[in-house]
Amino acid sequence: MSSSTSLPENFWEKVLTTLEIELSNSIVSTWLANTSLYETDEQQLTIACHDAYATNIIESRYAHLIKKVIHEITGKNFKLRFITRPQRTKIHDSGPLFDQPPQPAKKINTKEIRSSSPSHQHNTSNLNPNYTFDNFVVGNSNRVPHAAAMSVVNNPGKIYNPLLIYGGTGVGKTHLLHAIGNELLQKNPYARVLYLTSEDFTNDFINHLRQNKDMENFRQTYRQLDALLMDDVQFIGSKEATQEEFYHTFNTLHQSGRQIVLASDRDPQEIEELADRLVSRLRGGLMVNMSLPDYETRIAIISSKSSQLNISLDRQMIEYIASVITENVREIEGALLKIKSASLGQDEPITLGLIKSTLQDSNTKRGNLTKKITPEMILELVTNIFDTTIKDLCGRRRKKEVVIPRQMAMFLLRNEIGMNYEEIGNLLGGRDHTTIMYGCEKITREINESQNAYLKSQLRLIRERLYSA
Ligand code: ADP
Ligand code: MG
Repeated sequence: MSSSTSLPENFWEKVLTTLEIELSNSIVSTWLANTSLYETDEQQLTIACHDAYATNIIESRYAHLIKKVIHEITGKNFKLRFITRPQRTKIHDSGPLFDQPPQPAKKINTKEIRSSSPSHQHNTSNLNPNYTFDNFVVGNSNRVPHAAAMSVVNNPGKIYNPLLIYGGTGVGKTHLLHAIGNELLQKNPYARVLYLTSEDFTNDFINHLRQNKDMENFRQTYRQLDALLMDDVQFIGSKEATQEEFYHTFNTLHQSGRQIVLASDRDPQEIEELADRLVSRLRGGLMVNMSLPDYETRIAIISSKSSQLNISLDRQMIEYIASVITENVREIEGALLKIKSASLGQDEPITLGLIKSTLQDSNTKRGNLTKKITPEMILELVTNIFDTTIKDLCGRRRKKEVVIPRQMAMFLLRNEIGMNYEEIGNLLGGRDHTTIMYGCEKITREINESQNAYLKSQLRLIRERLYSA
């Protein structure tokens, strides 16, 4: 890296750590972990990304947020430039742990998958190499799903098919799906393994339809897989045509003994507008529940994560964190990142005092604010002022007259009471946190950059009523 301007020490590390608090660990480790600061000058920072696909995604989705974080850290408005500089090879390129000898014929198929599916160009499997069995901490809350996942890896397509893992947010479902995929590829690097969310599947399907692309090609991509790992299947509810397509994909794979693993935030029976025949297919194998980690598991997770993050905590500190952070694993990671971030600015080792003040700060900040204004108050005001309904705010309609109030609700929940993207997504009908992030950014842009007079006056009105009550 060449540098002609002075940036704080550990600058890029600090940017990534802060991004992890704003986004999620999985987004950062998938897209941003392999980035580095390549060049700096007075006005512009050049960021190197590991491949063209990632460069594109980072630039289109996260540039705005990266800029904001850099501004917070440096107080400066740098222009950002993104370039592609490959760094290291993917994990499964190096693993010679063959269960079966390599099969050249299959390799051709793997290439077909790559070329036929633009969304997976960067990595045929979409797997995040950082989510493995090795770094998955097993405790009471996840012992059964973990064991089921291991069985799947040892006997793909044979014992539990499909395996469905369900449970609340941040408990490790996505991590396990990737771990299964990575392990399958370790055993057989030519296996055709694909990880994706039901939203990815939907988008790919819709794009093929819209662009009049070859549907046969789409079908081949999915129906020739050896293992399909589909995350967040709850989002397939209400999408009829996609369900139909997925139903046939499922049957084809299942009938030919290919492994299917699914993760969902709820029992498929409770997914709204999910066709009965699909409900029974999804529930037709082994269903296992993942719950919040208990105290002992939290201790184990904190120990493991803190050493991964390179922060040294003693027993007392670990116990303190485990006793105050009682939410899911993602919250634990968030807490550790805050501690890391707080300690990066200082030379001294981490103390219990620092941990207490860091974690208390964020708790009281939220506690105080939420006491006065509740999410319900915000939703109600938004529905009154925009003349819409809660049902529409939480529903799936995409008309402008519901999208704008919905995004306004996201913006207010985030900015007035400090809810995180995940929580807002759950409140607004189970939306993905990236959708919420866009919504918040959209309103911010409309108000600040576009000076949208209508939205500004609506916002003023809402705030007046919110704070006068
Ligand atoms: P979910 O998909 O259930 O919402 P994730 O798999 O995204 O949850 O998990 C949230 C975060 O917590 C991830 O960064 C993941 O690596 C981590 N995590 C969850 N469970 C464990 C575990 N048992 N051991 C280690 N890390 C875990
Ligand atoms: Mg998940």
